[in-house]
Order: sequence, then structure tokens, then C-alpha cells
Amino acid sequence: MVVVGVTSYFNWRDNALALRMTYVRKLSRLGAVPLVIPPDPSLDVGEVLERVDAVLLSGGGDVDPRFYGEEPRRGMGRVEPGRDELEIRLVREAFSRGKPLLAICRGIQVVNVALGGTLYQDIELEVPNAIKHRWIRGSEFEVPMWYPVHWVEIDTGSRLFRILGTRRLLVNSFHHQAVKRVAPVLRPVAWAPDGVVEAVEAPHHPFFIGVQWHPEAMDDEYSWKLFQAFVDAARR
Ligand code: MN
Repeated sequence: MVVVGVTSYFNWRDNALALRMTYVRKLSRLGAVPLVIPPDPSLDVGEVLERVDAVLLSGGGDVDPRFYGEEPRRGMGRVEPGRDELEIRLVREAFSRGKPLLAICRGIQVVNVALGGTLYQDIELEVPNAIKHRWIRGSEFEVPMWYPVHWVEIDTGSRLFRILGTRRLLVNSFHHQAVKRVAPVLRPVAWAPDGVVEAVEAPHHPFFIGVQWHPEAMDDEYSWKLFQAFVDAARR
């Protein structure tokens, strides 16, 4: 049995844990058992990692800029108290233990910050000539969540390229922050047409990939390939 720990968020209004089912369904369909990790900073991440074969960092709000040494600026959005601390420790521990990790949207940002990188607090305000990365998701908004809106160019020397087998990929986009300075142990491996980093990986790690788009919400062959490769890595 392959167990994948999946991070979640706290819905303050309903005093409830939350995680979109698309993450869970992708893992279940591939035969992995999702184990939901609450955004509780008092959790012992070492104990958690003893019991899971891999970690999936799900999407969510903004990382508090104090974790990368900046003051909050105009344009940044909601933060999730407690979740940053937990996920930063989880990332560092998963990295040092060689645990497979797939980080999605907010996840790629957490990974970068946890390992020493920084973020654009708001793409529109900080990246000149940026394309539109912040689409409002959902059927009543701008696009359904599965709908791809921009291309990414993938480095042909990357693990991501070996997994997907394409150098150009159409992806969805529901973010307003992005990786700025890439953490020293990570390597950028995919870019949007405006130069925004859309994927990073740790070259010497068995499987440590972050993507800025939401493959869990898409149903194309590339999204399945990425999840399949992640579950295969967890199984090893
Ligand atoms: Mn994007």
C-alpha cells in the first residue's frame, strides 16, 4: 500500500479542514492512499514522514513574506497562519530524507521559500510585461479549473521533461505570486512566455518537483503522467 500525505488548509469560517477532492481522486485512481495532513504547526513532521511514502503539497493562500525576509507589500493576498510553519518544516525534512515530494501552486512557492528562495508578492505589480496568470477559477467565474490558458516551455535536460516527454505544455493558471530568486538547491525547469518560473526540481533528489499550475485539476495525458511518476516514486 502506498500512502501519500497531502497537505490541507483550514477553513476558519466553518472551523473545518479542507482539501479539494481533485487531489484525492487523482491519487486514489492511481492506487495510492491519500492521508490528509492538517495545517497544524504542532505536528511532529518526522513522525508524519515515518508513516507516509511521499508528500503532496496542495494549493492555497500566500506564504507570509517574513519567511523569506520581506515585509508584506501591496498586492499580496491572504495568508494561512500555522500552515506555513508546518509546511516549511515538512519540506525541509522531506528534502533531507529523500522522500518523494510533488508541490502544486502554493506548494512550489512553499518549497522555494523553505529551501532559501524568495517570491514575487504579486506578479502584476512586480513582473514587467507579465501575461495573465491569475484566472478566477470555477464554472461561474472566468474558466473552469481544468482549462489551460498559457504555454510553458520545459528544459529538455530536466526530470520533468523525461516524465512528460514534451518541451511545450499548455497549463491552467490560478496564481498571482511566483518564484523570484530560486533556492540554491533547486533548479528552474519550466517557464511561462513572460519568463515566470512555472516548475522547479531538486536535481540530486529521487523525486522533488514543484509546478505552478494545477495538474490535479486537469485530465490531459501530461497531468496523469506527472501524477503516475510521483506515485511510482512513492512506491519505490
Ligand atoms: Mn501561470
